[in-house]
Amino acid sequence: MKLANLDGRAAVLTAQGAVDVESASDGRFPSHPDAALRHLAEIRDWVGAAGPRADPASALAALEADPSRLGPPVTAPGQIFAVGLNYLDHSTETGLVVPDAPLVFTKFPSSLAGPGDDIPLPTPTCDWEIELVLVVAEGGRDIPPSKALDHIAGFCVGQDISERAAQMAGATPQFSLAKSHRAFIPIGPWLTTPDELDGPHDLRLTCTLDGETVQSGHTRDMIFDIPALISHLSGVCELRPADLIFTGTPAGAGFSRTPARYLTPGSVLRSTIDGLGTLANTCV
Ligand code: ZN
Repeated sequence: MKLANLDGRAAVLTAQGAVDVESASDGRFPSHPDAALRHLAEIRDWVGAAGPRADPASALAALEADPSRLGPPVTAPGQIFAVGLNYLDHSTETGLVVPDAPLVFTKFPSSLAGPGDDIPLPTPTCDWEIELVLVVAEGGRDIPPSKALDHIAGFCVGQDISERAAQMAGATPQFSLAKSHRAFIPIGPWLTTPDELDGPHDLRLTCTLDGETVQSGHTRDMIFDIPALISHLSGVCELRPADLIFTGTPAGAGFSRTPARYLTPGSVLRSTIDGLGTLANTCV
């Protein structure tokens, strides 16, 4: 199932169009995307059984072509975890030491943005990082790797936009603030539930800048896989419903190139994960 934030309301996307979850269920389910997330299984059963009428004006293809009505599929997560250096090729290109435990930082939720939103560039040294994003379903502490996938509500595409000058300044890197400027967390285009995929480690990630492919990777190449990340994080923090986990980026970020390359006003960043959709964000 694909659950979107369409005009600020939870909507199931089908080939025939969008189903507004609250109105089509006569109020059985909430309209807020974050609240609807708590009823994913019930909503899926209801869509399958009731076959609610879809709005053909919001067909999937139309929303793919123009994501401007889509907001972030999760709007106010309590926690956003992000993992640095989680692909060997990216770890190597940065010249940083390959970590022997996940390198975790946060991105602050006020910088969330939708799949078609503009990204204002605060400096000339802002960079791209396409990532697979997990949305937590049932949370918990000390989740063993064998149970980790049961705690995932779904997946979406994310960009971990990064202001490299501040990130790398000083003796100790400043990841969290440098990655939390306005609209530095576009996610979407919608949440895709796990049953639609062959698994989260069988996904190709592609990021293009003005049509040129700048990142091309595969989720099978993560250093710490998704069960390991969920187990590690929940061993410290209680995971809660609708928390987000950014799982790291493959090679091709701009700052590790020679010469370094950054986002410029007017450039269009397209971020695609097969089976999950595409973000199309214009830098301003
Ligand atoms: Zn990242």
